[in-house]
This record gives sequence, C-alpha cells and structure tokens, in this order.
Amino acid sequence: MSSIYLDYAATTPCDPLVGQAMAPYFFERFGNASSPHSFGQSARKALEDSRALVADFIGAKPSEIIFTSGATEANNHAIFFTARALKNKGRHVIISAVEHHSVLEPARRLQAEGFDVSFVKPTADGIIDPPSVEDLIREDTILMAIHHANNEIGVLEPVEEIGTIARQKGIYFLVDATQTVGHIPVDVRQICCDFLSLSAHKFYGPQGVGALYVREGIKIDPWLLGGDQERGRRASTHNLAAIVGLGKAVHLCRNHREKEAKEQSALRDRIIEYVLNNIPGVVSNGHRQRRLPNNAHFAFENISGEELVAALDMAGIAVSQGSACTWGALEASHVLKAIGLSDRMALGSLRISLGRWTTSQDVDYFLQQLKLKVEKIRR
Ligand code: PMP
Repeated sequence: MSSIYLDYAATTPCDPLVGQAMAPYFFERFGNASSPHSFGQSARKALEDSRALVADFIGAKPSEIIFTSGATEANNHAIFFTARALKNKGRHVIISAVEHHSVLEPARRLQAEGFDVSFVKPTADGIIDPPSVEDLIREDTILMAIHHANNEIGVLEPVEEIGTIARQKGIYFLVDATQTVGHIPVDVRQICCDFLSLSAHKFYGPQGVGALYVREGIKIDPWLLGGDQERGRRASTHNLAAIVGLGKAVHLCRNHREKEAKEQSALRDRIIEYVLNNIPGVVSNGHRQRRLPNNAHFAFENISGEELVAALDMAGIAVSQGSACTWGALEASHVLKAIGLSDRMALGSLRISLGRWTTSQDVDYFLQQLKLKVEKIRR
C-alpha cells in the first residue's frame, strides 16, 4: 500500500474540512431540496449557497451553474445538446486531438451520426495554437471544444484567445477545465466560453459531483428527464452532501490556491530538473512553463511505464503512467502520440502530480526511489 500519494491529477483526497461540512447533510440536514417543508428548505438553502460559491469562483452567475455527477456528464451534456440544437445550422465540430475521453468519445459518436469532426493537432510541446484552430473553422462549424489543461502532460492551453475567435465567429465554445479549477484562476468571462466543465474530486472535494457552466441566454435541453431539478436542465434528486462538499472545496481553494500553486510549482521544477540532470534517456513532456503548477510528466527510454509505476508502488509511492481513466489500456496514450512520441517512448511514460499535502521530503524520497527503480528495470 502506497503511503506517498503523487497522483492528485487522478483524484484528490477530500479535505477534512470538506468531509466535516458534508457530514450533517447525510444525517440531520438530509432533506430533499425539492420538498416544501423545513427540511427541504434547509437543503435548498445549502444547495443555493453552494451554487453561489461555485459561480463566483469562476466568474459566473448562479443561474449559469448546473450541478452534475462530474465533468464527464458535463462534457457529454454540452456536446450532445449543441449537436442536437444546431444540426440544422451546421454539422461541423472542432476539438483538440488531446482532449479527455469524455470529449473525444462524444465527438466520435457524433461522427458516427454524420457530423464532421476536425481534430486540432498540438505542437510538440502540447500547445493548441489558436491559428491552427481558426484555420479549421468553416461556415457550418457549430462547436469547438478545447480543454484548459491537459490531464496527462499538464499543458495550459490558450483558451482565452481561442474563445475570442469562437465568440467573433458565433461558434459555441466548450472548455473542459477539470484540471485547472481550484489550481489556477479560471474565469468564464475572460475565457469567452459558452460551456465549462469542472469536477470536485480534482480539488479536494468528493468524487461524483461537478458542474456545467452554461452561458446565460443558452436554453440548454435537459440531460436527464424526469424531474424539474436544476431549472429543468438536469432531473434527479440532488446529491446534496456532495454539492455542499463541492462548495466547501471551492471556498478552501479560494483561500489556498495561490500559495499552493507557488509551493507546488517549486517542487514540480525541482522534480523536472533532477530527473533531466540525473537520469539518462528521459524527456520531459509538455511545455516547460505553460503547465499546471502540480504536474511533471516524463517518458523514459527502455522502460515500461507500467513496470515503473508498479515498482514505485512497492516502494510506497503512488504515481501513474498518465490518465487514470485509460489505465490498463495497453495502447500508447493518444496525447503522447499527438505530441510526436513514438509508441515505445509513450509506453515508458510517468505522470507525477502534486497536491495540498505533498511535502519536500515526499519529493526527496520519490526522486531517490525513481532513480533506483529506473536503473534496476533497465538492468
Ligand atoms: N476531463 C478531464 C480533463 C479530466 O481529467 C477528467 C478526470 N480524469 C474528466 C474530464 C472526467 O471527470 P469526472 O471524473 O468528474 O467525470
């Protein structure tokens, strides 16, 4: 069992204060937010307080927030709604080739349904260049989806510039901000997006809850049918305790984000420098500066990333090869292939993601073990 957790990009533990804030909503304050009595009213207040916190955190209005089961649902909702609503206007969609599967798979489904999807290639350091997006825009383009940061290599994309282009051309713009909310500033007005997705378990909230921002004026069809919750935009009884946890997580990030980003980026840089200077046959993936404060990502020659992750786990360190969602897939990651890595190099990848409780001692121990394990596997 690992005791040093360096896989915060896969999921973060709940902050104990988040757990404390949630607890009463399982027991004394368990009401259904749609009930008219006092239990329901108390639940409704907690729900709306949380909505206001989330909205304020990303520069939105409370009415622009739909609570969801996470970012996967939020991405699916935005993509399928747009395709259905605008199919008579156009059937062309642009997404980056390095999106999370919760954007890629819906886009592939649209292709199967007769839509045309263009995949924007990143540069070798993982950046989606705004001109390369603009070049793909056509008369019939109805949607563009570019994530704020990549979940594997941690690169930050120029979504503000791409959003400005989308707004000028009147094309809906979805930004998957799952890896950035809680870690760096995110503002929907600055990004100029129409939809934005986020997920609590990436910033010390509980798993299974997130939100979709939908710009005011867009009358989005419901994702689930069978109730009037979320102003008729998402049926089903609210996951109240989790939503309260999401609000608390946002509140804590507002206070800690800046300091944490500073501390984590110093540790991240130490990791990258050490690895490049002390371990031969390794490359650092993703733009060196334009990256998440907590992400370092490498590809090692002559190493199976899977073996390396297992060896580090035996030494008490939890890291990953890349995305947790595709673990077990023996194929090289689509992200690493898109930035030009060979299958062989891509299969030797390692993602280290830091978080609220990562210490300098954790990093020292990790680096010492990494060097040892790489040498041992290569022997
Ligand atoms: N988008 C990105 C960029 C992600 O990293 C993840 C989670 N790995 C998701 C979407 C899916 O989020 P959720 O687990 O909340 O469905």
